[in-house]
Amino acid sequence: MKASNLFLSQRIELNLEPNEFLKKAGFVLNSFNSQKIMIFPPLGSIFLNKLEKIISSVLLENEILPFKLPPIQPFDLWKQSGRKKDFSDKVVYLKGKTFGKDKFICSPTNEEVITNFAIKNIESYRNLPLNIYQFDTKIRDDGSSRRGLIRTNIFPVVEGYSLNENEKSLKESFEKFRDSFEKILNLLEITHYPLEKREGYITFVANSKKGDTKISHCKCSTKIYNPLEKKCNQCGEDYKTQLGLELGCLMSEKDNYSKVMDSNYISSKGQKSNIFMGTYGLGLTRLLYTIIEQKKDKIGINWPKIIRPAEVMIIPFRNSQEYLNECAIIENDLKIKGIETIIDDTTGRFVKKLERADIIGIPNKIIPMLGNKKGGIIQYRGETFLKNKTIKDYNKIYSSLI
Ligand SMILES: [Zn+2]
Repeated sequence: MKASNLFLSQRIELNLEPNEFLKKAGFVLNSFNSQKIMIFPPLGSIFLNKLEKIISSVLLENEILPFKLPPIQPFDLWKQSGRKKDFSDKVVYLKGKTFGKDKFICSPTNEEVITNFAIKNIESYRNLPLNIYQFDTKIRDDGSSRRGLIRTNIFPVVEGYSLNENEKSLKESFEKFRDSFEKILNLLEITHYPLEKREGYITFVANSKKGDTKISHCKCSTKIYNPLEKKCNQCGEDYKTQLGLELGCLMSEKDNYSKVMDSNYISSKGQKSNIFMGTYGLGLTRLLYTIIEQKKDKIGINWPKIIRPAEVMIIPFRNSQEYLNECAIIENDLKIKGIETIIDDTTGRFVKKLERADIIGIPNKIIPMLGNKKGGIIQYRGETFLKNKTIKDYNKIYSSLI
């Protein structure tokens, strides 16, 4: 990868607010001059791709299977569920030769679609439980859009659904998704808490300075609550209230949808029974925002290794073709070893490039030397720990990469 393709700003500071930081670091760009509609250039897309890979592997490990629903749906389904009236000014309508006018909407969520799928495709208890997930881009028009990644009308998510025979089976699916989401958040090294809003409704909340949810906690427990004025029952101390950012949620819908939309299956006893459903989701850009907010230290973003944009920045001492050729040789060697690299071929000062690599969180830097001095310097997060101007090949350098 060449840094000149990555939309990095020349000047990027560590103390920027996460949304601004992500723009300057080339993870998101505004499109159509709108601050509410985002483009994900290469670094943002690489993040989303890696994230999808991590999420998929955790879900598959837990027997939660991939699915792909259409990005549009007939709005009349919402008449059946009784939600049409409440949402008619919060959805985006389609108009076209095939789809008519206002008959179809961009999918804001899929409870009705999944229930309709069950009506058409689930016949007996043998098909259940069904635990599925998909990556999707949600399109809503709920007026909540603000600048930045936290609240936008168009946003990427992973969403899951479970279809179950009864409440007991639904609880098992719920726990499966809960364990999976916990594992994903832990792999991403995100400090978070599960917040039980009511029975069967849990949100995952991250520590965040700019969060949209108030949470209370007490030092005697790791549990968090919605804001409470009162003192803690357990120890008598006052609750501490702070802001948190909702990353996703788990919700038990029981048979609410199947009752009103008449979705059922034939049980093992041969009886017609309503299908139970659970819905689950995580906002992918909220995870990106949270990592940037939580994993920043004095040097830069200290990405968890599994989601780093790249392992190595190769920085030419001068921007001459000779140096760039040497960088390309190193890049090629590392590619063979499966190590992801970026060559900083942008214009700008060498020292600034070193600094920028640290700030955006590319931890290893290789600076090749030429001529008699052939060899190289390697830095890891602001520190030079190998300086070898005499070696003729780079193997020694590669072996010291962290
Ligand atoms: Zn307490």
